Amino acid sequence: HVSITSSIHSLIFQPPLFSKTMSYPLVCLGNPLLDLQFDTNAEYLAKYALKADDAILAEEKHLPIFEEAIQEKSLVVVAGGAAQNTARGAQYILPADSVVYFGSVGKDVYADKLIAANAQYGLKTQYMVQENTATGKCAALITGKHRSLVTDLAAANEFKASHLEKPENWAFVENAKFFYIGGFHLTVSPEAIQLLGKHAAENNKVFALNFSAPFIPQFFKDPLDASVPYCDYIVANESEAAAYAESHGLNTTDVVEIAKHVAKLPKVNTQRPRTVVFTQGTLPTVTVTYHAEKDSFDVSEYAVKELAQEKVVDTNGAGDAFAAGFMAGLVEGKDLAQSVDLGQWAASVSIQLVGPSYPFPKQTY
Ligand code: ADP
Ligand code: MG
Ligand code: MG
Repeated sequence: HVSITSSIHSLIFQPPLFSKTMSYPLVCLGNPLLDLQFDTNAEYLAKYALKADDAILAEEKHLPIFEEAIQEKSLVVVAGGAAQNTARGAQYILPADSVVYFGSVGKDVYADKLIAANAQYGLKTQYMVQENTATGKCAALITGKHRSLVTDLAAANEFKASHLEKPENWAFVENAKFFYIGGFHLTVSPEAIQLLGKHAAENNKVFALNFSAPFIPQFFKDPLDASVPYCDYIVANESEAAAYAESHGLNTTDVVEIAKHVAKLPKVNTQRPRTVVFTQGTLPTVTVTYHAEKDSFDVSEYAVKELAQEKVVDTNGAGDAFAAGFMAGLVEGKDLAQSVDLGQWAASVSIQLVGPSYPFPKQTY
């Protein structure tokens, strides 16, 4: 009897395969980058024809910036990559083992630095590792309140959907209830985004995408348009909204009108409405939800509690931190207004620190 009882016991209490993955409600996908952040001036931006508030992919002519960054006295090297910042921030807010992040890195000290930074936040990473390509870098050129990002994707550019399909990774996908995609990844693997989007739609899970930068709706319009039908949530800032309107010929600069257009685009999963969230720096955050069954919109504006000038250290990653709080809110089952408020809180906490970071000892909402 004892042996039968114990074998039944061990059958019942056998941990399921991949039991370690049974938490992790939120899966994020993006381009893992090391940020080389330094203070600079208008002349330096002009030398490389950079705008004060922008994000671009580095061309040959921009590569000296990465060498010159090393000489800068104000240089700080911090974990970056927009969606990785969001993943770290969401994990900062949520209980342990809530967020897993996918992306591609090299086999080098830079990747070690990213892994260490993520570990500090308890963020789980399932990196694809490239043997022969260096970890990507992002030069963050700070001029006062503005930040111009120049990215050399390197290994981040080699992410493949097949990495997600490996059983040990797909287990996280199957188990997750929420997905967050950095729009920057549309330049890397639209296939991976489609794969997650289809999975989310078929299983009525929440799928969120950030436009990430004006150049995404401008120059990666087709892969973006192919991903939007999977999106339950779209998050972007005002300049990305404007770039979307321009590249899609919307003939409007009104953020509510742009949000309405995007919210109403065709949707694969008809069980959930689509909500578009546009942040605008210190101006109010705008949300538009389109309810197809009623053919009606919910439009809301949420004022930003602007920080005193002297408290703002740098706004690099403000939008990423907003997305972190917003996604954490959704995972916690908060409503839209509460999730926006948590997003604004996370952003205000993050911009009081250098780089896209969050404070320790931990602050709570
Ligand atoms: P991005 O970094 O993508 O450009 P935004 O500039 O729109 O994103 O900033 C995102 C959010 O950060 C804003 O909606 C706001 O909540 C917060 N934020 C930005 N600047 C400030 C500020 N000076 N004081 C308080 N919150 C701010
Ligand atoms: Mg901004
Ligand atoms: Mg942003």
